[in-house]
Amino acid sequence: MITAHTNKLALIGYPIQHSKSPIMMNTTFAYMGADFVYTSFNVSREQLQAAVNGLKALGFRGWNVTFPYKIEIQKYLDRVDETAKAIGAVNTVVNEDGKLVGYNTDGIGYLRSLHEETGVCIPSQKVMILGAGGAARAIGFVLAKQGAQHITIVNRSAVKAQELAKLLSQYTKARAIPLQECEAVMKETTLLINATPVGMSPYVSDSPVPSMVLHSKLVVSDLIYNPKHTVLLECARDQGANIHYGLGMLVHQAAVAIELWMGRKAPIDVMRNVLEGCKL
Ligand code: NAP
Repeated sequence: MITAHTNKLALIGYPIQHSKSPIMMNTTFAYMGADFVYTSFNVSREQLQAAVNGLKALGFRGWNVTFPYKIEIQKYLDRVDETAKAIGAVNTVVNEDGKLVGYNTDGIGYLRSLHEETGVCIPSQKVMILGAGGAARAIGFVLAKQGAQHITIVNRSAVKAQELAKLLSQYTKARAIPLQECEAVMKETTLLINATPVGMSPYVSDSPVPSMVLHSKLVVSDLIYNPKHTVLLECARDQGANIHYGLGMLVHQAAVAIELWMGRKAPIDVMRNVLEGCKL
């Protein structure tokens, strides 16, 4: 039963009609016996500020922010936490008694998922990240802060790769290299992360790197969750590598948002089951 006392949450972005977040969140709140409700709003760029003001005026406890507003949303917030500021993107807003605070839960969500599925210890990792967009920045930042031995960025646009390497080099050894050099560097890599959309539906037959560069000492993460089994992960498994699916990050970044809004742990298995039961 939704009443005036119900805690209201939302997802804002454009387009968001295919998002599974409302079904995952509402099933989770029902399971937790929590008086929370989660909805989603397609917001045009011209209406972003008005939408933020409206959510605040209506007393929403918070909201998630997705494409294309993770950067722009920051200018409508009272405060952005240190991690989100360094990453340069906010995906979760908490309304603290009328003060809007921005967070980024992608990096920590990735880390928790990686740990859950592979048990790897970050300080021993030699990391290669494919991509230098929002997800790569979030993950690179937390891995660097957690003391990964070194991080190599490979990206289509060299300038963005260099910018990310510069950010990460404040915390660990980091560099940007062109794709042509990735085969040699892969030999010493222990954790490979695909943070590009290459392999995602409808381009499901593509891989961001040739299969011959993969090897059995790698943990290979693909952030793509549709399809679950990307070409990259299939090839990695064929080479004897340990593989890490993208769905776990989706679940864990949402769980961290729930913790920020409710101050309670979220039931990871319930959330994962909802998403696995959905046609993504
Ligand atoms: P983004 O900010 O748009 O960045 C995309 C990155 O991929 C950029 O570095 C871009 O290179 C590169 N790229 C795009 N198309 C490419 C192509 N055809 N060939 C080579 N590189 C290409 O996107 P994002 O938010 O970081 O998301 C990246 C991926 O992670 C997406 O597949 C997304 O679905 C996934 N993701 C998953 C989760 C999860 O919870 N599992 C969360 C966030 C994101 P340029 O710089 O050259 O444009």
